[in-house]
Amino acid sequence: MGGKPLFKNKIYVTRPVVPTIEELAPYLEDILGSRWLTNDGRYVRELENKLAEFLGVPYCAAVCNGTMGLLLSIRALGLSGEVITTPFTFPATIHALEWCNITPVFCDIDPLTYNIDVSKIGPLISPRTTGIMPVHIFGNPCDVGEIERIAEYHELKVIYDAAHAFGVEHQGKGIGGFGDASIFSFHATKIFNTVEGGAICCRDAELDQRLRDFRNFGIRSEEEVIGPGINAKMNEIQAAFGILNLKKVRGGIQKRRGLFERYHGCLSKIPGLRFQRLSPGVSYNYSYMIIEIIPEDFGLTRDEVYMCMWQEGIKVRKYFWPLCSNYPCYNALPSANKDLLPHANRISERVLSLPLYEDMTDGDVDAITEVFSSCHNYAAEIRRLISSVL
Ligand SMILES: *Cc1c(COP(=O)(O)O)cnc(C)c1O
Repeated sequence: MGGKPLFKNKIYVTRPVVPTIEELAPYLEDILGSRWLTNDGRYVRELENKLAEFLGVPYCAAVCNGTMGLLLSIRALGLSGEVITTPFTFPATIHALEWCNITPVFCDIDPLTYNIDVSKIGPLISPRTTGIMPVHIFGNPCDVGEIERIAEYHELKVIYDAAHAFGVEHQGKGIGGFGDASIFSFHATKIFNTVEGGAICCRDAELDQRLRDFRNFGIRSEEEVIGPGINAKMNEIQAAFGILNLKKVRGGIQKRRGLFERYHGCLSKIPGLRFQRLSPGVSYNYSYMIIEIIPEDFGLTRDEVYMCMWQEGIKVRKYFWPLCSNYPCYNALPSANKDLLPHANRISERVLSLPLYEDMTDGDVDAITEVFSSCHNYAAEIRRLISSVL
């Protein structure tokens, strides 16, 4: 309201975990000295083995980014026609289907978990449907049991976009072990990063081999190209970065958990704020701090709160808005009709992603939650002020 911003140095929703120069130096010396920079190098293989163990999955193939992981698995599993998915996700999920000439079929979400509403999948299945691509949104596991049942009954493939779910366990099992394949993203903004990068986890040795061939142009051996592969390889420097960052993940999740619970404690006292409902039996990774603002009870809309936060130097984000089904490239699809996606449209207009990263302090959390309190307490004045400047 004309005062100085609370955070002079802006605070962002995330801040990447990085190794120190001292930690990285021996790896760089080795990689530079050996001149083995990519193509089935020792550090990529070491990272893949460590990831398979960490994630509790039989097979894990590293790739250059999560989006290529989605594309590779779509091609390697032979999906075509239509694939049922969620509109409440990052654009990559849907674009990956479109890049493979597959029509995304949007299914509404559950208003509490924000994941695909499994009870709405059945009616969307057509003779052209070949698969389901659910997203464990913000790391919250989908109803994997019901999805498996539907997929088996209708003989559909399932690819999980697990970009948010690194380190999550569901009923004691690594989240990467469900469906035909699961894709993780190791982008700098994710809870575990290799600068850019990703991995595809699966349970089938043959599929794993095909994915490995496909990420390297389809080259199986000196003498044999098995199909139209692409270049999706992770390089040795990324892998070294990953080996070092992987050691920090468990500690990082613990720190995030403390901050997450602090947010919860403070924000749950304010009317009109709601949290994502986590699936039962989840061991969560605390990757995102998502808050849903119910305007009637809070006093301000999500967009009004967003403006207040940015004025204070708190760079909250509207994940995921706009909704994928409302992008100009998809909004003419029959399944993109807003009347068919009421929950996804409403949630997308109500959620904010708040700063959450390992080296944040309790004081940062307290300051941010104070702004929520003030927004609620001075809602009428704030609304008047905003409408006078717009
Ligand atoms: C980050 C993200 C991706 C894309 O991963 P990249 O590694 O950046 O290509 C895909 N899906 C979801 C849900 C994501 O959040």
